Amino acid sequence: MAAAQLILSVDYEVFGDGSGEPRHCVQDPARRIMQVAEGFDAPVTLFVDAAGFAMMESELRSVCSVAAIKAQLAAALERGHDLQLHLHPQWEGGRMDAEGEWQLDLSRWRIADLSDGEIRLLLKEGRTWLEDLARSRQPDYRCIAFRAGGWCIQPSERVVRALRKLDFLVDSSVAPGMRNTTKGEWLDFTKAPKLPYWMTRGDVCTPEKKGLYEMPIATARIDPVRHMRALVAVKGRPDAGFASGCEGSYRGPGGTVSGVVGRLAKLSKLGQVMLDFSSMPSRVLIDVSRKWLKQFDGVTDVPLPLVAIGHTKNFSVASEQSLAEYLEWASGEGIAFTTFPAWLDALNAD
Ligand SMILES: [Zn+2]
Repeated sequence: MAAAQLILSVDYEVFGDGSGEPRHCVQDPARRIMQVAEGFDAPVTLFVDAAGFAMMESELRSVCSVAAIKAQLAAALERGHDLQLHLHPQWEGGRMDAEGEWQLDLSRWRIADLSDGEIRLLLKEGRTWLEDLARSRQPDYRCIAFRAGGWCIQPSERVVRALRKLDFLVDSSVAPGMRNTTKGEWLDFTKAPKLPYWMTRGDVCTPEKKGLYEMPIATARIDPVRHMRALVAVKGRPDAGFASGCEGSYRGPGGTVSGVVGRLAKLSKLGQVMLDFSSMPSRVLIDVSRKWLKQFDGVTDVPLPLVAIGHTKNFSVASEQSLAEYLEWASGEGIAFTTFPAWLDALNAD
């Protein structure tokens, strides 16, 4: 098996409709993810929904919770974790109503549906928010990687062009084989190349000789019955697959779905799964990793990147155990742990 390097990425955010309280849905689960990872000397990459937190910060009633979020992010960086940019454009133009609930513009769910100017501005503002916070602790910090909110980067030509113009080096929005046909939140990665990573200058599913690095989230096909069992197990637990104390709604532009399972079901057909450590048991994570590494064994002579994903809001008590078991397995297999910038440095040093 080729030398592999695992990137543990986490979408660090509340729910897409603005619901969910930052402390229970972001901060507490992120702390637990980092604690588990630190036990294995593994850095975590937090994909921070900068548009969301910047908007919360502008609202007096939520400014305290954002101060705690910023303190956690700065401390994470100091402990060797990484921060990169994630964006949910629906926050732009959002407002908090009299009941203290966020009302977001769900018609702006997909960054790819915005104008060139809006895409560029969102990326620039998000990156500045993150870099200002990070550089107070680490002056040479650079935000170089991006993941689109809801993975909705397609049609990707304009987003990729804006990312390249702004000197981003990596996109990690693609999850090969996944598709969502829901109106207002569609994505289609069924035609993604069968490669561990590639470069893109426009269409994220077409590899090119140069451009932005596309470092996809690892996916694999598993037995549909097994997939169904894993979903049913999540649904049957008292926390229904959410982080402790975290409550919110998976309402999107395509309507409301019930809970974690509904959200996952919308994303895929049974049997196609992401390397998702918040919703999958460790035996599935191990199976997906083995298949991904076997598929790409020998394809590249640089360390094979293996990008895992988690979400703070559904990092439940069961996910914690599953992540620990998975990292135990990965360590035993000799899989190293890395971040996007460190992986790029190793690549360029060759
Ligand atoms: Zn997100």
